[in-house]
Amino acid sequence: MQPVVIIGSGLAGYNVARELRKLDKEAPLAIVTADGGEFYSKPTLSNALAANKTPAAIPLNTPEQMAAQLNATVRTHTRVTAIRTDAHQVKISEETLPYSKLVLALGADQIRVPLAGNATDAVLSVNSLDDYARFRAAIESKKNVAVIGAGLIGCEFANDLSSTGYKVDVVDIADQPLPRLLPPAGAALLKEKLAALGVTWHLGASVKAVDREPDAIKVTLVNGEAIVADVVLSAVGLKAKLELARAAGLTINRGIVVNRYLETSAADVFAIGDCAEVEGLVLPFVMPIMHAARALAATLAGNRTAVSYPAMPVLVKTPACPTIVAPPANGAVGEWRVEQHADSVKSLFIDATGRLLGFALNGSAAAERARLAQQLPPVLA
Ligand SMILES: Cc1cc2nc3c(=O)[nH]c(=O)nc-3n(C[C@H](O)[C@H](O)[C@H](O)COP(=O)(O)OP(=O)(O)OC[C@H]3O[C@@H](n4cnc5c(N)ncnc54)[C@H](O)[C@@H]3O)c2cc1C
Repeated sequence: MQPVVIIGSGLAGYNVARELRKLDKEAPLAIVTADGGEFYSKPTLSNALAANKTPAAIPLNTPEQMAAQLNATVRTHTRVTAIRTDAHQVKISEETLPYSKLVLALGADQIRVPLAGNATDAVLSVNSLDDYARFRAAIESKKNVAVIGAGLIGCEFANDLSSTGYKVDVVDIADQPLPRLLPPAGAALLKEKLAALGVTWHLGASVKAVDREPDAIKVTLVNGEAIVADVVLSAVGLKAKLELARAAGLTINRGIVVNRYLETSAADVFAIGDCAEVEGLVLPFVMPIMHAARALAATLAGNRTAVSYPAMPVLVKTPACPTIVAPPANGAVGEWRVEQHADSVKSLFIDATGRLLGFALNGSAAAERARLAQQLPPVLA
């Protein structure tokens, strides 16, 4: 029998493998990954400074340990260059590897905004352990970090860096942090608490250019303002890795298009995690991966199983202002009702019949997460 081949050793790839092994201990399994194949929890990257963790201390398992645990082969630093769906093969340069079933767990790339200036090559982004090691080396014995993007990842890094002594400037084109996740009142509290920690906000502003100065990088905003930084971190969003799927003729949209069974448009090819668009939803978070991995593992083990998603509130790791968001579904009709106190903002998205469709909890209101989550409709019933 040809092996099940999983491309990618992130949370999606390794969790599918783990779940499959609970159901089938013997089916041949091969994991191929472009990175080092260490098992690590990516969310720890944005609070590793405060947790006093070096990049080397972040991996939980080596690829050899994973191979043994999973009764699988794990090929590291190996990039799949093409997929031949008709022949049930993947290509690794000139080599071909046959598969019985193929799982694409390719992840996403950080979006890079086009910038002028002569220091664009020095703008870093963090979406992997290797990126993070580069970032940590860059900030070593430095002081000033400019963060482009006040989304989840930008805010988490801003909190982690400023709470450990860095001076942080955050720039975002929106006029509030977490523009896609928080209504204005909650965003205002987050903004205030991070400012109290030492974050300088530059909102409603975008970066025009980054240039080398003798001892720093000058970040020039479109409004003419200039920020002096040692390191620039860009965190303006993610785009699913689509090239392999596109070249193989799979249906793609914002992600690799899959149905509730995580099936792509090609027979025996599945996609999961940050690269996948499941019934129109691209959800680059851990919880959807856990649910999808269980369903996909059952399918791979011969019991075709649809994924369903319960409500999955996301914890934003900004300890300066605990924040939990469960955004209403796209196009949901309702209104935000906001309850505000000195150190908390509770924003509930309610429809005309009084049903709770989403929420954002900031500060001490975060403690209500479990109770409110129970009232939310499932993301995918
Ligand atoms: C800083 C940070 C903090 C986060 N915090 C949270 C959080 O608190 N809560 C939460 O829910 N989510 C969080 N997330 C999001 C979450 O970490 C991701 O959704 C999840 O890790 C994605 O896993 P993945 O396996 O889909 O992708 P990835 O981890 O990106 O894995 C992709 C894998 O595919 C491999 N690959 C790609 N192309 C090829 C190829 N051609 N050949 C071979 N291998 C290939 C890569 O090497 C890699 O191993 C955070 C993300 C970041 C960056």
